[in-house]
Amino acid sequence: MRIKTILSSLLLLLAVESSTAQPTDDSVHLTMGNPSRATTDPNNSDNFLIVKPQYTLSYNNSKKIPNWVSWQLNKNWLGNERRCGNFKPDPALPSSFRRALPTEYTRSGFTRGHMTPSGDRTNNRQNNCATFLMTNIIPQTPDNNAGPWEKLESHCRNLVSQGKELYIISGGSGEQRTIAVDKISVPEKTWKVVVVLDRPGLGLGGVIQNTEIIAVDMPNQQGIKEDSWQEYRTTVDEIEMATGYDLLSNIPKTTQDVIEAR
Ligand code: MN
Ligand code: MN
Repeated sequence: MRIKTILSSLLLLLAVESSTAQPTDDSVHLTMGNPSRATTDPNNSDNFLIVKPQYTLSYNNSKKIPNWVSWQLNKNWLGNERRCGNFKPDPALPSSFRRALPTEYTRSGFTRGHMTPSGDRTNNRQNNCATFLMTNIIPQTPDNNAGPWEKLESHCRNLVSQGKELYIISGGSGEQRTIAVDKISVPEKTWKVVVVLDRPGLGLGGVIQNTEIIAVDMPNQQGIKEDSWQEYRTTVDEIEMATGYDLLSNIPKTTQDVIEAR
């Protein structure tokens, strides 16, 4: 009897252990899918999945930037928290990985460009500071970052203030050059896809063929600061072709085909 009890507790422990070690594709930030099938296997170092409470990403160890970062945005994430501003290497990276230091961007001509914006995580200090981890950062030109890219970020928060819930994913594509001695890749373009749902809580089931989708692909160049984000609208299909990812892969295929071509 006693041995049986010990054995069943052991089995329970093993079950709990293996369930926590599984890929955490159930993150709310991956509601629309894991576009590169990133995994938590450290051998998969150029498509390494990092799940955080605040956002989820695929890290590219060769490029020292994320391939993509994905996050949910609704009114619960927004508040009055001030900008943390404390850029830091991400402690979640395995010790064998290359990690970008904030100082490697200094005087490079490129800004430390947030994927999940600081302004999307203002409900408390911990969540805001998480956006300053360097795995959420890519080198962006000042005019891209503070121009049309920022205008779309603001537009997204406006949608949230109207009651919407968004699922957002963004990243860079191509490589125009590297910066720093230890070579951080600078993408040629920056892309973003936003799924706009009418209210919080609808989830994947809330996506229909008429669901509003915003897709943009912007040159990571100077000289575009005054441009509107709308000038860079494209289709999800175009971004999939440029990146090789299957975006929105959790959405049923027939619906996915319609909204990605629009
Ligand atoms: Mn920015
Ligand atoms: Mn797709």
